[in-house]
Amino acid sequence: MKKYLLDVALLAFFSAQTALAADNVVLITIDGVRWQEAFSGISAELATHNEYSTAAEQLMAEFWHDNPALRAQKLMPFLHNTLMQQGTVVGDHSMGSCAVLTNNWNFSYPGYNEILSGVVNDAINSNAAVPNPEKTLLELLSANPVFSGRVAAFASWNVFPAIYNVQRSGIPVNVGLMEQPANEFEVMLNALQKDVSPHWPAVRHDAFTHHYAMSWLKRTESRLVHIAYGEPDDFAHEGDYDEYVLATHRVDGFVEDVWNTLQSLEYYKNNTALFITVDHGRGEHPADAWLHHASQRAVEGYMTGLAADYPQGIVGSENIWMAAMGPGVPAHGLVPTSNCVGANQIAATLMRWMGEDYTQYNPSMGKPMAEFLP
Ligand SMILES: [Zn+2]
Repeated sequence: MKKYLLDVALLAFFSAQTALAADNVVLITIDGVRWQEAFSGISAELATHNEYSTAAEQLMAEFWHDNPALRAQKLMPFLHNTLMQQGTVVGDHSMGSCAVLTNNWNFSYPGYNEILSGVVNDAINSNAAVPNPEKTLLELLSANPVFSGRVAAFASWNVFPAIYNVQRSGIPVNVGLMEQPANEFEVMLNALQKDVSPHWPAVRHDAFTHHYAMSWLKRTESRLVHIAYGEPDDFAHEGDYDEYVLATHRVDGFVEDVWNTLQSLEYYKNNTALFITVDHGRGEHPADAWLHHASQRAVEGYMTGLAADYPQGIVGSENIWMAAMGPGVPAHGLVPTSNCVGANQIAATLMRWMGEDYTQYNPSMGKPMAEFLP
């Protein structure tokens, strides 16, 4: 009898768990790469623009093709040749595939909060490094012993420790030197990062973010790692389309390196899923709007400098894209969406992949996206 009761209890316990698709997840965010470039490749108008490009010949030689699909392959070969073949992608807005921000700002901190916490909080209304009142999925999962101490983030933008509220959450978020380098490679990365001249005061080179994250994956058995690349957005704000394109192409290569590295490591091989997205889009019309991203509300308050030229905000900058591959992720390629999927659904989707029910952590999160589930 006792044995029977135990079995019933175990059965109830296991059926309450959602199906496990992936043991581990690597979340990748790429700041401000437009869906237009991701799915149609470079813009000839911007690549050859007097003001926005000093490398027109190089860009056209390396990345141009008359066919938009082949053009996109040249810019982001891993996304198109591997991820779109083996995984699922949304956000080619020209093909009826819609992914959007549900926050009403269309700039970075509100975007990352939405991606990471699954909820929109109106109090998050600037990019200031204010400790996040919301809890990210890394923090929420850390309350569970099977995730505790096995989550980490690596970011180029130095506001991420605030987005992760590291004082409260204790999540390791690397945006600078590795405090306790674990090997010669990390000692060398620290030395280089200290000595290479930074391009921006608040954003380090993505190469450092990438290689610290790779080293971490190799030396830990992590459940959830977030890698946040930042260069494309900053080059875009500076009006350097050539550098924006080259940075986007480099990040596609970094993503390929992440995937190949995972497959080369016994712990992560065949049981780790990859999710890639962006924190906002950018404008498209007029051509100059590619520099910016902001909602109407944002230009009325936080980004008033844009209000004179863009009284409606930067139209279309709420449009984002998402891509995923790995165990349990269907191989549907680009999928049309009947309703737009939202960035607030990402956190719950990643939890579902790892067998966790978001309602047990924060029922206010956007629900998992069927598009990315088996
Ligand atoms: Zn951003």
